[in-house]
Amino acid sequence: MAEVLVYVDHADGAVRKPTLELLTLARRIGEPVAVALGAGAADTAAVLAEHGAARVLTHEAAEYADYLVVPKVDALQAAHEAVSPAAVLVPSSAEGREIAARLALRLGSGIITDAVDLEAGEEGPVAVQSVFAAAYTTRSRVSRGTPVITVKPNSAAVEAAPAAGAVEALNVSFSEKATGTKITGRTPRESTGRPELTEAAIVVSGGRGVNGAENFAVIEALADSLGAAVGASRAAVDAGWYPHTNQVGQTGKSVSPQLYIASGISGAIQHRAGMQTSKTIVAVNKDAEAPIFDLVDYGVVGDLFDVVPQLTEEINTRKG
Ligand code: FAD
Repeated sequence: MAEVLVYVDHADGAVRKPTLELLTLARRIGEPVAVALGAGAADTAAVLAEHGAARVLTHEAAEYADYLVVPKVDALQAAHEAVSPAAVLVPSSAEGREIAARLALRLGSGIITDAVDLEAGEEGPVAVQSVFAAAYTTRSRVSRGTPVITVKPNSAAVEAAPAAGAVEALNVSFSEKATGTKITGRTPRESTGRPELTEAAIVVSGGRGVNGAENFAVIEALADSLGAAVGASRAAVDAGWYPHTNQVGQTGKSVSPQLYIASGISGAIQHRAGMQTSKTIVAVNKDAEAPIFDLVDYGVVGDLFDVVPQLTEEINTRKG
């Protein structure tokens, strides 16, 4: 069976969920070979094996933490040479997209970004994308070189699929470019304790209808009752009620959670572009004619200041 390289996104050995989702998709098109780099790389092996990695190629070096993405691209190129995979899968994070683009250029390969699903095709892996503000679903295949494919978080379920997960040291010699851009400092963002917006399984978003920064507490309370991330429409962000890092949409982040709850959001095409692939969509809006209702699985016509707190209370009560 053809092997498929999966780039492992991890923090000191703790594997992030999008990588486990990639393993689910990788198993549809071949045998996953995970590539884990940097401090804690070997610690990722057990969880990767539980989720289907037949092999785990590891390499630890200070360069991965000290410089921008090029050392990681060097390592993936080395893994590509060692394995000759049928495809290289990378999570669609800001870093992942840069790694994938550079790798595809190095390999002279075609790249498909932001796939939401993968299928085994007769002539190679087929990537499913949601394009033109999610108005179309396309299926495409790389026709030159080894397909490099980035996959959006929450595109697949995390599935247990025990495999050997044999750990092997990867041989990497860094290129001259690897140390071209040094990281001089890191300032961690203040933590809200909520999941990262693009990785969250549930997102609760507020729009202009929230009507003020302080009223976002209502949205946050619902999010916290569900263990969700908080999103915002551009109207809410432009008004200064919520940070731009939380904006969902064409000029914000693209999310694809299991559940998306939009409150006081009309459903403009540019907002839909960032959330339309969510598995279940719920909207609360006082205008029964709001376009968001064309999109939803469940819609509540009502004032969000009535509906959302009741929902939060009910969820908290049921949680006990
Ligand atoms: P509105 O459209 O004003 O809708 C507010 C809604 O709240 C209304 O439907 C109203 O009925 C409802 N409401 C009001 N009060 C209540 C209440 N008490 N209870 C319940 N419902 C209530 N937008 C994005 O979101 N993300 C983007 O990334 C983005 N990128 C853009 C890029 C470009 C190039 C352009 C031109 C626009 C972009 N926009 C983006 C803006 C987009 O066109 C809309 O203007 C924006 O999404 C509207 O935000 P909203 O739905 O919060 O506000």
